[in-house]
Amino acid sequence: MAILDTSMTSVYSDDEKDMTFSLSSKQSTSSTASSSISSPSEMQSEWHDRKWIVNESHLMRLFSNCHKCGVAINEKKVTKLGSQIKVEWTCLNDHHDKWASSPDARGMGQNNLLIPAAILFTGTTFTEIHEWARLLNLQLPKKTQYYSVQSNYLFPVIHQAYKEHQEKLIQRIMQVQAEGKPVELCGDARSDSPGHNCKYSTYSFQLLSSNEIIHFELLQVTEASSSVAMESEGFRRGLNELLYKEGLDIDLIATDRSPSIRKIMREEFQQIHHEFDPWHVAKGIKKKLVPLSNKKDNRDLQGWIRSIINHFWFSCAACGGSTEQLTQRWTSLLHHVCGEHEWEEDGEKKRCFHAPLSLDDQLRKRWLQPNSQVFKGLQAIVMDKRLLKDLQQLTHFKHTGALEVFHNAMLKYLPKRLHFAYGTMDARTKLAIMDNNFNVGREQAVTAQGIVG
Ligand SMILES: [Zn+2]
Ligand SMILES: [Zn+2]
Repeated sequence: MAILDTSMTSVYSDDEKDMTFSLSSKQSTSSTASSSISSPSEMQSEWHDRKWIVNESHLMRLFSNCHKCGVAINEKKVTKLGSQIKVEWTCLNDHHDKWASSPDARGMGQNNLLIPAAILFTGTTFTEIHEWARLLNLQLPKKTQYYSVQSNYLFPVIHQAYKEHQEKLIQRIMQVQAEGKPVELCGDARSDSPGHNCKYSTYSFQLLSSNEIIHFELLQVTEASSSVAMESEGFRRGLNELLYKEGLDIDLIATDRSPSIRKIMREEFQQIHHEFDPWHVAKGIKKKLVPLSNKKDNRDLQGWIRSIINHFWFSCAACGGSTEQLTQRWTSLLHHVCGEHEWEEDGEKKRCFHAPLSLDDQLRKRWLQPNSQVFKGLQAIVMDKRLLKDLQQLTHFKHTGALEVFHNAMLKYLPKRLHFAYGTMDARTKLAIMDNNFNVGREQAVTAQGIVG
């Protein structure tokens, strides 16, 4: 088989014989768009030519009389090929002609190529569209033809487009880097089903400055022992690829606090600053605070949880990159919850970072008692050794939130309730990435022009 030409613009046949039918002037008077159908060769080259749903019985009325001499047609052969219908006829005067509902492309009716493309590129599935079409009795290519077009034409087109897109993206990052700006990424995995029985894991790397996805690794369950192992393997492979194959110099990467990712960063990528997403850490703190506050004597803590999480968040945001500042801000909380806003520590005067409280506020708050059980429980959570150590990886206030937005957008192309073959997962992930990158790029362009806020 010849090498596939993957460009979508050159796939159309210019075989004039396929499109010899044109409306006679008498018939075209009823059409307001007669000028647009006067040039069949133009139509053939335009994939975006308008398509109409036509009833077969109405279509066949056009083939009762010869288009050349007007006498009755006495021999007619109708061929149906998926969505394409072809009519060949001979009239009583022995005129012979043929007509097809669409031009041919790659040896098939053009629409038999475009229908699978429209299905795949919009993220829907053949099954869904087939069901819709069956109800309407609309003629589509058969399932086998759909899959054949998908693997022979559509996947190569996607791979090519994605490759070109990624190359440009990496080049652009290299340029930015050459200007002395840091390359900062975030990374996270998405499993194709909730829980630990997933079949695939997709690890994506996103550029923090633009929210574009610059790389992904797709792993099958057969490549690792669990979803956690799949995630860390995807992370390792992806980072190696970006550093050593693409040649990127990555300054920082933000992830969740997954122990396996931390270990990989510590052991294999010491040159990259590993930052934690404050939202994931805040969620972890809340997970500890809630059960503590649910204990009978600890109810006073319940009203504090929201403020504590906010305080953590703002401490990370306001520390100006300093671990010392962040630690001081975060731990000042233990004084504040007891109603103490100025205190002495190691002979130094310290105070809360908030504005002075009004007397009303001071009276209304349910301050905790410093020697109570609930305070001791809170103290253990706030001063947790691991958490305090992790603060040094929270000072840059880098988020992985936009990656979660991308994971949600992936559902358009990869609904979790469906299982896809590896090749399909790969192609659909690439579509989702190009969709995401095109849209975040557009948002930025619009913002840069000042049209939006
Ligand atoms: Zn005739
Ligand atoms: Zn205070």
